[in-house]
Amino acid sequence: MSDKIIVILEQRENLIKKASFESVSAAVKLAESLNLETEAVTAGDAIDNLADVSKFGIKKITHFKNSGLKNYSPSAYTKIFTDYIKENNFGYIILANTSFGKDLAPRIAARLDCGCLMDCVDLQINDGKVIATRPVYAGKALFKASLNSNVKIITNRPNVFKAVIVDQPAEPSKNVVEIDSPDLSTKVIEFKKSEGKLDVAEADIIVSGGRGLKGPENFHLIEELAGALGGAVGASRAVVDAGWRPHGEQVGQTGKTVSPNLYVACGISGAIQHLAGMSSAKYIVAINKDKDAPIFSVADFGIAGDIFEIIPALTQEIKRIKS
Ligand code: FAD
Repeated sequence: MSDKIIVILEQRENLIKKASFESVSAAVKLAESLNLETEAVTAGDAIDNLADVSKFGIKKITHFKNSGLKNYSPSAYTKIFTDYIKENNFGYIILANTSFGKDLAPRIAARLDCGCLMDCVDLQINDGKVIATRPVYAGKALFKASLNSNVKIITNRPNVFKAVIVDQPAEPSKNVVEIDSPDLSTKVIEFKKSEGKLDVAEADIIVSGGRGLKGPENFHLIEELAGALGGAVGASRAVVDAGWRPHGEQVGQTGKTVSPNLYVACGISGAIQHLAGMSSAKYIVAINKDKDAPIFSVADFGIAGDIFEIIPALTQEIKRIKS
């Protein structure tokens, strides 16, 4: 049995992502309970905030370096990490369930012929085994599972596990491994950022609009409320399919899974496919003129009323409080 856990860190534009710090804290907690050695690995060119990883209690950090690895390359990253995991006999692998993690984890699992539990929202230890909880049936139920394979891969849902800075973290050993000619047969050529906008997948506050908005010309109401709260704009699939909003904003089963602190659903009915993407938000506020709309069944606070009256009043009041 291996006694080592490895965290695969995701970087974008030379910065380790917040969700990876959450993976580190989840790994450190498992390591304490199971008495495991911890290590974090990443691939990229120059990584500007690698030192921050040490604040979360990791003991060793390895950076696979090559200018060709600046953007995600499924072929190169899979090979580099799989080889390293095999050579060093890691028993547990953890990474965030972002687009990167969702793509990479199954590739590594296939090569290592091991089990993989994706999108976990809780990890507990029972009898020396990791028991992972993950949502199933589009978030309708929670499923607990453990893995029997020698190597176990877990992906953690972003914004669910807390990134915890440890008291007096020890300086980890740092290792840079230059990669000569990575296999770049598949690679991400370009990331297109929505200019100046917060990404729903990473936002702490999201205000989402649905078909209740009646048309794209009314989405400024959502943008203004999101702006007042300092949050991102999200959308239901109905409005994305209608071409009112870009797909990057879609929340749900075929859109993004989000776990913000606050999710405000405006004129969204709460179809199961929408709930699949947002029901793990910490606080859900729903505004809908139909008091029986399913969205109210998951809401912590509900306002049964007309969004065209409520959103402007709410925006104004939030601006007044903040000023
Ligand atoms: P509607 O269901 O039409 O709801 C509009 C709501 O607005 C209603 O509840 C109404 O009462 C309210 N309303 C209307 N006027 C006002 C007003 N003036 N004030 C207040 N409230 C008002 N959907 C997603 O969102 N994300 C997904 O990822 C997704 N994936 C899917 C995958 C599959 C395979 C399938 C089959 C469907 C998927 N859907 C997804 C679609 C989903 O089933 C719903 O059709 C969609 O979520 C409905 O969007 P909506 O709530 O905006 O619209």
